[in-house]
Amino acid sequence: DLLVVGSANADLVIGVERRPGAGETVLGGDLSVHPGGKGANQAVAAARLGARTALLARVGDDGHGRLLLDSLRSAGVDPAGVLAGGAPTGVALITVDPSGDNSIVVSPGANARLTPADVRAAEGLLRASRVVSAQLEIPLETVEEVVRALPSGTRFVLNPSPPRPLPAEVLAACDPLIVNEHEARVILGGAGAGERPEDWARGLLALGPRSVVVTLGAEGALVYDGSGATRVASVKVDAVDTTGAGDAFTAALAWRLGTGASLAEAAGYAARVGAAAVTKPGAQESYPTAEEVRAL
Ligand code: ADP
Repeated sequence: DLLVVGSANADLVIGVERRPGAGETVLGGDLSVHPGGKGANQAVAAARLGARTALLARVGDDGHGRLLLDSLRSAGVDPAGVLAGGAPTGVALITVDPSGDNSIVVSPGANARLTPADVRAAEGLLRASRVVSAQLEIPLETVEEVVRALPSGTRFVLNPSPPRPLPAEVLAACDPLIVNEHEARVILGGAGAGERPEDWARGLLALGPRSVVVTLGAEGALVYDGSGATRVASVKVDAVDTTGAGDAFTAALAWRLGTGASLAEAAGYAARVGAAAVTKPGAQESYPTAEEVRAL
């Protein structure tokens, strides 16, 4: 079973002709509201594929929280670990201009109130999981507590997004650490990062994780586990919207690892899931079933 520990947000999206300047008001198109946040996205992606999935997260006791719970339940995610209250549900206010460029304001809300104590109280969920997958849209100390509370034999997967330098204890637990180019550069701290994904992977592995996966968009991914680097190809598709592709990739990889796949096999499957996710608009709405991945 897979346990995702992370964020749940309502994404509020408005199309605009152009962004307002300071003190200015512009009119936009109709509001659309989508369930999002990297934690909820990962949980929905895994459950859509058929994984037994639970989510440890915090939402507000409000309409956005209920929207998120509905979308988790309809994807088949076990919502027992979704706590409610303490602050409004996290929100991303997104404006999109005609060229497709986004401007985003995030209010972490309840995500910032997911505490180490919440992790300790979820001991049963942790014990029931083969793989635990986390991101960084919740407090770092909460992720640190997840690492401390990991039952022996439970694998830990981290996508450090949004990226920040990580404590050695967290890095050492990652198997794998999953990054895109931007995340790799931030965690490596810029200096001597090199220009090739192989360089980033080698540099990251030297920081302590047991394995590293670098995602490369349409180029697929690079898997690096000490015995060397393996390139994993993606599938050629017509990309419509890459939102949430990284979350689908991470979720699929974490789930496959839990079923006994090797890291390279799991990444190969995850690359197909990521490719399927970019063929449809949106994040959770774009996630494929196992059937759709096979058909790709
Ligand atoms: P992130 O969204 O975190 O930056 P990527 O853009 O690297 O992550 O996408 C994650 C995965 O999704 C990639 O490793 C790849 O397998 C798949 N993917 C993303 N964009 C495309 C694309 N244009 N064509 C095919 N596969 C893609």
